[in-house]
Amino acid sequence: MESYIAIFTETFWGMIDWTWRSITFDVPWYTNYFWGLILISLAVWLLEIIFPWRKDQKVFRKDFWLDAGYMFFNFFVFAIVIAGVYAILEKVFGSYGISMSSLVLIDISSFPKWAQLLVFFVVLDFVQWLTHFLLHRYEFLWNFHKVHHSVEEMGFAAHLRFHWMENILYKPLKTFGVMVLGGFEPSQAYVVHFAALTIGHLNHANIKLTYGPLKYIFNNPVMHLWHHVYHLPAGRTRGINFGISLSLWDYLFKTAEIPEEKGDIKLGFPGMEEFPRTFVSQNLYGFSAGKKPPHRATIPLNQRREEKKRVGSA
Ligand SMILES: [Zn+2]
Ligand SMILES: [Zn+2]
Repeated sequence: MESYIAIFTETFWGMIDWTWRSITFDVPWYTNYFWGLILISLAVWLLEIIFPWRKDQKVFRKDFWLDAGYMFFNFFVFAIVIAGVYAILEKVFGSYGISMSSLVLIDISSFPKWAQLLVFFVVLDFVQWLTHFLLHRYEFLWNFHKVHHSVEEMGFAAHLRFHWMENILYKPLKTFGVMVLGGFEPSQAYVVHFAALTIGHLNHANIKLTYGPLKYIFNNPVMHLWHHVYHLPAGRTRGINFGISLSLWDYLFKTAEIPEEKGDIKLGFPGMEEFPRTFVSQNLYGFSAGKKPPHRATIPLNQRREEKKRVGSA
């Protein structure tokens, strides 16, 4: 037990130290996620301001600061707290003989550097697509994912508006992905992480971008806006366009749909009028949501009719 506490505190302080050294520019620039996040955010924000898709959307749109808070909480605060837990889990699994190198299917360490990064990017993106699909498929997971879908006006910062449980829910398949590829990240994995961060910011940005024919490979703002649509197309009750960085999986698995390319569609999900608005209440929501279904009589009649027509969630 004592050694677990030691692992936790050592990892925790190590993360605090790393974050502080990032803030004070005391780490290699290409591993500086603190200033990297700020720089990418400012760049995408600037593009939104210069080339807005929804011209009447304010620069400081609805919930801009809430999303900015989520961005730093999920990327730094929560990462610092959870790192110790993951270090303990690694030790526990290790004591049963299970390590990151127990499941190697493709040993990418012998590949050229660019191929290592490409395979790492594609495999990690696929396991995240699958996790995202499951977040929509199962009600108890969807209750956590509703935080991300509670965005009403879309902008780059909405990218990292998500419940902290999502960090945990994405972890098993991401770890599995790293395990099958040799058990460790390629030495230049930061390229993949920064690329994914930029693509994710762009996917949520108020910019009309589709990348031409590359739209069948890369996710983009037009496609991802439809992922957030309030009223899903008929027969798509569990959602469309689950892609993270790549749209490829949605085209392969027939979950892609872009009914039209206009930017001012209604966003959210049926029932979001009752969804909490503050950071704390949103983060508590997923734990109690499944236990107390709202009484039918409290749902307005027109909404009940509406929902009958469109069974399901976003
Ligand atoms: Zn989603
Ligand atoms: Zn999104």
